[in-house]
Amino acid sequence: MKIKNLFSQKRFILSFEVFPPKREGNLESLYVTITELGELKPDFISVTYGAGGSTREKTIEISSRVKNGFNLEVLAHLTCVQSTKDDIARILDLLKEENVENILALRGDPPEGTERFIKTEGGFEYANELVQFIKTRDNFSVGVAGYPEGHIEAPNLKTDMINLKRKVDAGADFIITQLFFNNDAFYNFRDYAMALGIDIPILPGIFPILNYNQIIKIASLAGVRIPPRLGEKVEKNKDKPQEVEKYGIEYAIIQVDNLIKNGIAGLHLYCMNKSHPVKKILAELSLSR
Ligand code: FAD
Repeated sequence: MKIKNLFSQKRFILSFEVFPPKREGNLESLYVTITELGELKPDFISVTYGAGGSTREKTIEISSRVKNGFNLEVLAHLTCVQSTKDDIARILDLLKEENVENILALRGDPPEGTERFIKTEGGFEYANELVQFIKTRDNFSVGVAGYPEGHIEAPNLKTDMINLKRKVDAGADFIITQLFFNNDAFYNFRDYAMALGIDIPILPGIFPILNYNQIIKIASLAGVRIPPRLGEKVEKNKDKPQEVEKYGIEYAIIQVDNLIKNGIAGLHLYCMNKSHPVKKILAELSLSR
């Protein structure tokens, strides 16, 4: 089923994001997690796309397994990094053969060890070009990334919002946001989008903090602000992983509760290949299905 249609049929969309493990042996353990996540009845599971090499093939393999093995709807992420149009076309064909109907179209981050994204000759510079390519070539439902605090390379939020609109004008069907810890940033982003005439559904992306080092790294790479109260609490407990996880999940519950009260179209949980935080968040908020 196309995610675009899910949004028109259901009042609240629930999705979980997983990533291909770096080591081959961990694939089976991911499938155990997906079994557990499947029991929580998400509307779809999204599978991230690596910077290069074998993890890319794993995105196709895992997406196919989610769709055809677990009978769950899937959103396969796809980036422009180190790919020509022909490379992208080949991946789209492989995804089609596996009955994958939904793509999250991204530019991608610069590969590890490089500072700037450099367009591959014969490839794409920005995600809006990828959206347009997919939409004119195929019949996928296409999602794009949105940044409540602005993309890290953008000079300001306004410029980034105008660039988000380019992706919508190119045919994007829905938006999933980067993680954020301050709901006001999301409400401001949503209002801004509406003012620009962006009327496709927006799924807020929530990241339950499970580990001190991980969150410091992610937040700085993505340019996401950590509110002082949250930062102090996590910092104070950095040597007590269980405390960090407990507080991280509690914080996510408070965030989601407030988002629901403010009329969100659904929820995208960055679950870091773990099911127990998701289970706890859904149970606490009576979102279990
Ligand atoms: P774009 O929309 O192309 O934007 C990139 C920058 O260029 C922004 O600063 C924007 O303002 C500017 N810009 C955009 N269009 C134009 C234009 N036409 N002219 C001038 N400037 C422009 N990365 C992965 O590698 N794999 C993943 O699976 C993955 N999944 C993600 C999922 C979500 C929900 C999110 C939010 C991000 C994900 N990312 C992933 C990270 C993403 O690839 C990076 O944030 C990347 O740096 C930007 O990708 P984008 O698609 O937003 O790019």
